[in-house]
Amino acid sequence: RLDAAAADTETLLAHNLADIVGTITLFIAMLVMMFVFDWRMGAACLLAAVISIAAMFSMMGGKNARIMAEYQAAQDRITKAGTEYVRGIPVVKIFQQTVYSFKAFQQAIEDYSNKSEYYQANVCRIPQSINLTFTEGAFVFLVPAALFLAPGVLASGDFAGFVTNFAFYAVFSAIISTALAKIMFAASGMMLASTALGRINQVMCAPELKKPEHPQKPRDGRVEFEDVSFTYNGAETPALSHVSFTVEPGRTVALVGPSGGGKTTAASLIPRFWDVTSGMVKVGGADVRQIDPHVLMEQIAFVFQNSRLFKASILENVRASRPNATRGEVRAALMAAQCGDILEKLPKGIDTQLGSEGTYLSGGEQQRIALARAILKDAPIVVLDEATAFADPENEALIQKAFTTLTKGRTVIMIAHRLSTVVGADKILVLEGGRVVEQGSHRELVETGGLYARMWADYNQSVQWKITSEEEAK
Ligand code: ADP
Repeated sequence: RLDAAAADTETLLAHNLADIVGTITLFIAMLVMMFVFDWRMGAACLLAAVISIAAMFSMMGGKNARIMAEYQAAQDRITKAGTEYVRGIPVVKIFQQTVYSFKAFQQAIEDYSNKSEYYQANVCRIPQSINLTFTEGAFVFLVPAALFLAPGVLASGDFAGFVTNFAFYAVFSAIISTALAKIMFAASGMMLASTALGRINQVMCAPELKKPEHPQKPRDGRVEFEDVSFTYNGAETPALSHVSFTVEPGRTVALVGPSGGGKTTAASLIPRFWDVTSGMVKVGGADVRQIDPHVLMEQIAFVFQNSRLFKASILENVRASRPNATRGEVRAALMAAQCGDILEKLPKGIDTQLGSEGTYLSGGEQQRIALARAILKDAPIVVLDEATAFADPENEALIQKAFTTLTKGRTVIMIAHRLSTVVGADKILVLEGGRVVEQGSHRELVETGGLYARMWADYNQSVQWKITSEEEAK
């Protein structure tokens, strides 16, 4: 949010402010010029401008502002849902779900289409037509005004002066449309900046986590779920129901199961992104709600599916997880995360600014930087969310190596869709509809012949299918 919102407010402060001053000056100068030569023809030009501005602002004020905000929100949602959809395609293939399993995307499309149609038809159509007509057509009033005045001028004899004035206003009216376009540009800049500030305020005004009165210290890296249920605000069905499991310190648990089963939700409860509705999540023997939030954060490193890097240097990006780390420590973490090739190809190495001067990293490279961040944090518990899902094959091998370093000797909770990555886990939990439907080692679960065994068979089939089709292609 800060990255995007800062870009929006920066545009206003650095570019539009100067434009706005210029526009106001131009507008005042224009008003004066309008009345210098022939106030009647000037008034005809002004009338067109006033109608055009009034139409423009009628689209932005009152009820329409709310509709526009909803329209923009729908646009945001469709972008997010679209990204999730594309990232989820492998899951659809493995679990043989239909496209309609992506309800969120379908809903976002329908919602956007409805909002967009409503906004265009009910808010924009008439005012925008009026606005464009009068912005481009100061003549609508100027020509009739000139025709109306012509007989009087002919009688008085100063025809040459009259024609010169008309020519002046005809040329002048072209400037009006430029000025109006500038006003519109400035107004939309102001609106963008104000919605950006609104989004930042949402974060700044979010209630702080309640701190425990008598904070407890976690003893070790053990993670326990005791009869945990959780329902999202406003949701009808719980995302997790009576989930219980234990991860011993230094062990790895993989969460698997169909999309929407509750894997991400379970992982999110450990660092208190949300608090349980009932039951208890414990870290190192203490209820997470009884641990000081800062201490809790120190216990857990995350690597999420959509790891986000800041528009800052690689050094700062990695150091975000431990601000007092030295350059040497950051470098060592980057090496452990197999980022050597990234540093080598970048002009300023570790000090290269990401997201500027054309320095953009691929998805897999971003993942590795995010892994370096997690390695530097050196926390006893690691939460990995489908971290390798969309890495390319070359990156994947490197990411697997980085994983090994990151997870060594730590408690690991891994959300995985691709079953090849979970075979070695100490325990596998199969979550479906918010419940743990099976748990055990890979071998045990395959022997049980339940949901996991079916998923494993499907997975093998999909791998085989890939190999045969590749061979056929040869
Ligand atoms: P998984 O990671 O297994 O795909 P999730 O934990 O993301 O499953 O989702 C579990 C359920 O909770 C789903 O029904 C999902 O629609 C719902 N859900 C997930 N995130 C939210 C949220 N932020 N608000 C409301 N419902 C959510």
